[in-house]
Amino acid sequence: MNNSDIVAELGNIVGDRYVSEEPEIQFLYHYDFITAEPEGKCDIAIMPETAEEVQEIVKIANKYKIPIVPWVSGINFGSIATPRKGGIVVDLRRMNRVLEVNEDDMYAVVEGGITWADFVGYLNKHHPGFRTGVTFSPPGTGVVPSCLAYGMWDLGMIGGTGAEFTNGLEVVLPTGELIRAGSCSLTDYWYGRQPLPDISGLFIGWEGTTGIVTKAAIKIWPKLPYRTDFLPFANRVEDGVPMLLKLSKAGLGIVDLLMTNLGWAQSLQCFDQKSVAIDPVSLGLPDFIGLITTEAYTEEQHEAQCNAIKNICREHNIEPLTADVQTRNFPEQMRGVLGHIFPATGGQLPIQFWGCWNFARGGGGEWIGCYNTTRNIIKYYNLSREICLKYGKSPQYYCRIMFGGHYCVTRTNVNFNKNDPEDIKNTRQILKEIHDAVQQLEGTIMYKPPKWVVQHYKDKTLPETTNLIDKIKRFLDPNNIMNPGQGIGDE
Ligand SMILES: Cc1cc2nc3c(=O)[nH]c(=O)nc-3n(C[C@H](O)[C@H](O)[C@H](O)COP(=O)(O)OP(=O)(O)OC[C@H]3O[C@@H](n4cnc5c(N)ncnc54)[C@H](O)[C@@H]3O)c2cc1C
Repeated sequence: MNNSDIVAELGNIVGDRYVSEEPEIQFLYHYDFITAEPEGKCDIAIMPETAEEVQEIVKIANKYKIPIVPWVSGINFGSIATPRKGGIVVDLRRMNRVLEVNEDDMYAVVEGGITWADFVGYLNKHHPGFRTGVTFSPPGTGVVPSCLAYGMWDLGMIGGTGAEFTNGLEVVLPTGELIRAGSCSLTDYWYGRQPLPDISGLFIGWEGTTGIVTKAAIKIWPKLPYRTDFLPFANRVEDGVPMLLKLSKAGLGIVDLLMTNLGWAQSLQCFDQKSVAIDPVSLGLPDFIGLITTEAYTEEQHEAQCNAIKNICREHNIEPLTADVQTRNFPEQMRGVLGHIFPATGGQLPIQFWGCWNFARGGGGEWIGCYNTTRNIIKYYNLSREICLKYGKSPQYYCRIMFGGHYCVTRTNVNFNKNDPEDIKNTRQILKEIHDAVQQLEGTIMYKPPKWVVQHYKDKTLPETTNLIDKIKRFLDPNNIMNPGQGIGDE
């Protein structure tokens, strides 16, 4: 069979309009738009509309033993949707519907290709009293991939990762069968993954190598009437982190708790990397920028929460200014886009804002992003900071405290110019050095690991655990067609 015959067969499933092997279409799917990872190869791109169509596509891929890669927008920061071994890229963005919203049990059932813009827009329009958590990624990126890849949302303090926001899944297995995981496997309700064996774990953290999720139930939350975003600054990360950790355990209605260093905040504000200070610390600018979001049901409760937050900040000699006030006071070097938007919105940023980062001319960015013990926050920053400065890059650090302070995310971004091969080479070296350095910190585990990191974890994990992971992958995907060359199950 040549590709054109397979395209014709696939066309019978989705219609000729939604399958292509044209070079300009292949190009769109062959790489991760922003990372420094090597490019892949897309032979055929296809856009199904239903789970049944996905099943038929997977069966054809099995028949011809062709790789098949689930895809929503392919800008996940780890290049984990890049087709490493060619084959069919299944662009799921026609499967972008919200199928049900259950306000009583607070979840929404969505299709596997829904984007943040689709989801947030739908809730705002039809269920304005409820919201989902959102990421900092562009509105056109996928919700379900973020759930499956342990994404971080702006409700992380109350809900944990995107995986923990996921109540249940409908999945097309790599052999074409359709299964359900969670309460939806035996009732019409998608209220949770309890109390049966939790087989959702067969699809979470696997980078699309064990099946294509066609539906997912995602927790939604009520929009509470009172909310304040504090944006406290401190000179050094060492000064601010103890305050964050104390706040995380104080039970003050905090729904989001994070810090960035000044480098990260500048990147988010569309500053060009070359026009900002590589090392703001050397200029005496505040290097710790916190974000504390607290919500409450009544005014009295809110006032009490805010007062307690202010007191904890002041115990650490940090002034707890709110986001709108703080940004009005920004020194010129820190003003950027935030300085205009925060005061206008009273401290809350619109979803359209996220993803407007400036990755420097040429628009490349990648990170070493890890889940971690909260004990490593400062050490991680200092290790990665030193490496960035050694290579003349602005260290861009970000840490989010998760799930009531039970763990955290630590992450250093490196921006680069995609049009400059030397810069890309340099960036790969920096990422490797940061990875090796921070892995020395016990408890540090990278999420959305790009291909070159996966082997590191396979070597480090208990051998029996790695064997089990390999067996599960072989069992689910006997022809090894699902996103081959990616993920922890790759052999
Ligand atoms: C500027 C920027 C900021 C970001 N900020 C954040 C952030 O704050 N928090 C965060 O969590 N992420 C963030 N991201 C990362 C990422 O874009 C988001 O997590 C996003 O929601 C993932 O969607 P995607 O469309 O890029 O996924 P894709 O790249 O299309 O897919 C990611 C992985 O999931 C697999 N996959 C996709 N769909 C399915 C499916 N239906 N079934 C099975 N497997 C599937 C793919 O094969 C791939 O392995 C950011 C990205 C950018 C560019």
